[in-house]
Amino acid sequence: MVRRDFLGRMGLAAAGTFLLGGIKRQAAQAKDIDKDFPAIKKIDLHTHISSDATYLREVMDRLNLKMVTICNEGLKPDRLAAQIKIAREIHQKAPRYYAWCTTFDLNGFGLAGWTDRVLAGLQDDFNRGALGVKVWKEIGMQLKDDHGNFIQVDDPRFHPVFEFIEKENKTLFMHIGDPPSYWQSYGPDGRPDAWYREGRGVWNRIGEFKGEVSWETLMKARDQVLERFPGLRVIGCHLGSMAHDVSMLAKRLDHYDSFAVETSYTMRELAGQPPEKVREFFLKYQDRIMYGSDISGGLVGTPFLVDMAKIRERWTAEEVEQLKTDLIDQYHREFDYFSTDREQNFGDFSLPCLNLPDQVLEKIFYRNAVRCLPGVDHNFP
Ligand SMILES: [Zn+2]
Repeated sequence: MVRRDFLGRMGLAAAGTFLLGGIKRQAAQAKDIDKDFPAIKKIDLHTHISSDATYLREVMDRLNLKMVTICNEGLKPDRLAAQIKIAREIHQKAPRYYAWCTTFDLNGFGLAGWTDRVLAGLQDDFNRGALGVKVWKEIGMQLKDDHGNFIQVDDPRFHPVFEFIEKENKTLFMHIGDPPSYWQSYGPDGRPDAWYREGRGVWNRIGEFKGEVSWETLMKARDQVLERFPGLRVIGCHLGSMAHDVSMLAKRLDHYDSFAVETSYTMRELAGQPPEKVREFFLKYQDRIMYGSDISGGLVGTPFLVDMAKIRERWTAEEVEQLKTDLIDQYHREFDYFSTDREQNFGDFSLPCLNLPDQVLEKIFYRNAVRCLPGVDHNFP
């Protein structure tokens, strides 16, 4: 049962509609997220899962959700190997709950044998169910050549990898760069402090990067890949690092047919734009936008899988219950943002919700993912 049906049955649908900015909106309505949210089948396109924990399955059962766990960190072989091993295992064990995407080792980039080794690894991962491959911002902001220059994602040495992904009919996830605001505020040592600060999400783990490469350079390199591989399906993480200006992103979506985006960690940037402009963007590109949370979940290495220092030997029942509650809260809050018209509070900022129609929610939360990441719906009844 979708939201309006539910509200209709509760006799609330007569609350009516009104026009704002030329777009028909539903007036504020009471809703029961425990009923409305599970009514829509959902894929969370962007997660990092460290173990098949019971609490995760309980959350997914309760919310009618399946997760795509994504490997990254091609510069850290141990962590990369651990991530791939875990993702393979949980997908094989519980394909109802976990789809997965892999990545590849960046060590030895450009040296003899690197390409063959990478392609063999990807082939192996595809054979074990990987639906896509992620390139992370370490390409562009961390990986360097022998002369100390940052290597960009449009480097021709990546071409055989992208060709292979396309040939295998897999999808490329691109998280290149960060929001441009990260280049604009500096800490005491002259380093942009966005890559330091705790509490601004997970985007601060990027080596010693001090903003040496401009945001524009990173975006141009990403665009060059889209330009060169028009047949390759690409999903831009975090609204393609352009969430601060949806019209800038719209230009890319107009220009590159195979480009789509996911929404994780973008509310802060979206909050800086006129709400009606953001809503119009989501309506216009409703076939190209997918929901992602970028959560880290599981009972190994949480809260961040990538921070192995945080591996916990033991969790108390209360702690696990808290993880579960927090996760459900996050999903509810984000679904609220897309589906209601109230003001949503995200801690130190707030923004008006998008109040998207049910058929758009179904695309963003499910149908677009099925199209852009073929196979993601398998085993998800
Ligand atoms: Zn992520």
